[in-house]
Amino acid sequence: MSAHRVAQAAAAGGPLEIVEREVPQPGPGHVRIAVEACGICHSDAAFVNALLPGVRFPLVPGHEIAGRIEEVGEGTSSGWRVGDRVAVGWFGGSCRHCTPCRQGDFIVCENLKVPGWAYDGGFADTMIAPADALARIPDALAATDAAPLACAGVTTYNGLRRSSARPGDLVAVLGIGGLGHLGTKYAAAMGFETVAIARGPDKADFAKQLGAHHYVDSTADTTVADALQSLGGARVVLATAANSAAITATVEGLRPRGELVVIGADAEPLGISPNQLLMSGKIIRGHPSGTAQDVQETMAFSALHGIRPMIETVPLDQADEAYKRMMSGAARFRMVLTTG
Ligand SMILES: [Zn+2]
Ligand SMILES: [Zn+2]
Repeated sequence: MSAHRVAQAAAAGGPLEIVEREVPQPGPGHVRIAVEACGICHSDAAFVNALLPGVRFPLVPGHEIAGRIEEVGEGTSSGWRVGDRVAVGWFGGSCRHCTPCRQGDFIVCENLKVPGWAYDGGFADTMIAPADALARIPDALAATDAAPLACAGVTTYNGLRRSSARPGDLVAVLGIGGLGHLGTKYAAAMGFETVAIARGPDKADFAKQLGAHHYVDSTADTTVADALQSLGGARVVLATAANSAAITATVEGLRPRGELVVIGADAEPLGISPNQLLMSGKIIRGHPSGTAQDVQETMAFSALHGIRPMIETVPLDQADEAYKRMMSGAARFRMVLTTG
């Protein structure tokens, strides 16, 4: 194979067009991956629309990548071999020289290499990735299931396990879409008394199917905060919904020392007063995804507990339609491109 397909945006805003390119060669410390599946994440739009600094065009998005190593760059002594099944997510490698990297906190690297931003991503037949970005896919997971776990999966899984919640604690997951449906499954499997919060009475059955013990309809007469307090107050709220007003509405539902973990992206300010936090010692913090090792552990936990993302697969040739469907909100869960 001397040429391969990529879905690229030639300029800010897209559209994504399929073009043939020369197959790239991996340099030292890098591998070439034959991409089998790549999820479409809402944050891809930040790159395609050039909302972040350093975005260059033409740009190949995609940071929920699953495939096989096709070639290992010369001098790459990391133990990876041709044929290994690997995933690459939001964590596409770190610089190793900024202060967080020197402290070993690679996911908050100041020069984090997100695929589809720092280098061409996974909307392609093949791609090059640094070896430190690779996570091993367990045999039990298909590539189409592994791909979304490299961003949506690890973000929710890590957000929960790095929180202050312990088994038996009341944990609420705000939103049951692309992130939240995984967050609800993980919360239940981790042994938390799990509350799913979403809009409308019709989602109650679905929330229970995901493993939630309780369902809170945010459009009901009872406020979300009162509903959580009637259950004893949440130790942790994992806010996956990209909606600042909905996130703000959960704060009064936290118990004293409770923690609001924000992973849903929204530019609107949270309307929370210091008085809501002070006497009860509440914590609000953002949570950034996870490293390649975290992705690997997310996939292992998912395999062990039979947890899979809910996906819709689309061939790479239809990347533009799939991307637009995902960004319009028409796709309820994860769209995954396949190269098959
Ligand atoms: Zn993502
Ligand atoms: Zn760094």
